[in-house]
Amino acid sequence: MKEFYPERICAVCREDLDELEIAYGDCPVCEQFVCEGCDDGYDPTTGQMVCPDHAADPRAKNCTE
Ligand SMILES: [Zn+2]
Ligand SMILES: [Zn+2]
Repeated sequence: MKEFYPERICAVCREDLDELEIAYGDCPVCEQFVCEGCDDGYDPTTGQMVCPDHAADPRAKNCTE
């Protein structure tokens, strides 16, 4: 079994999130990190941010802000 640790790089703009020092969250669908500038919805309960590719996915329905 292969374990996967995502890099802390925005899936959209490919910026290094540790260097940018802005808010980011993981997409509830693809689990990639998305920065505050590229996200297409935010779930204040879990802190997850949906990427633009999955904004319409039912699994991201809580990402509204
Ligand atoms: Zn970004
Ligand atoms: Zn996604």
